[in-house]
Amino acid sequence: MKIPVVKNILEANERISLELKEMFDQKGILVINLMSSPGAGKTSLLEKTIEALKDKIRLAVIEGDIQTTIDAERIGKYGIPTVQINTHGACHIDGNMVKDALPSLNLDEIDILIVENVGNLVCPAEFKVGEDYKVVILSVPEGDDKPAKYPLMFQESKVLLINKIDLAPYLECDVEKIKREALKINPTLEVFPISCKTGEGISAWTEWLLKAWEKKKSS
Ligand code: MG
Ligand code: ZN
Repeated sequence: MKIPVVKNILEANERISLELKEMFDQKGILVINLMSSPGAGKTSLLEKTIEALKDKIRLAVIEGDIQTTIDAERIGKYGIPTVQINTHGACHIDGNMVKDALPSLNLDEIDILIVENVGNLVCPAEFKVGEDYKVVILSVPEGDDKPAKYPLMFQESKVLLINKIDLAPYLECDVEKIKREALKINPTLEVFPISCKTGEGISAWTEWLLKAWEKKKSS
């Protein structure tokens, strides 16, 4: 029987995630678990988010990758605290990995911590890492059938960013259908169509993020 084993792993992670969440709450840090398929634009979104908010708020990033420090180097250029987690094959980040990364960050100097998960639409949705919110990016080239195929990701997320909308006119992808299907799975999902390339829609996202942080700060 494999089911009890899987359940234990998830339960153990749940405990670690709760500990992390309590600590982040005490420090007043808003934590975002950012997820998507490979190439949907997680790191590009981080770059746009940092450009928009770096003078308003203290951001930090934990970069999860199976291998390489390519994305961490992209983020490190902005001069904000960045920690790389290499999962060495694991296809998601879990609570322990985030816990291990924390000694490399000064938590007293962070307002918003964004964890860029490993590119994968499946299991990152199952593992909490102490976050306030999960945010999923789906890019237009991936197709409008993805919410129906990977419902858990859309069910668990608070925000859906539909990226690369500048490509929609060239592809067989219905942005309204993505929205409709995702809202069918999770009616409370906030949906923002964006383009990290043209900058369209980015301000709606960064305003949401700022508001979420202000709400956490005042609670
Ligand atoms: Mg990336
Ligand atoms: Zn995984």
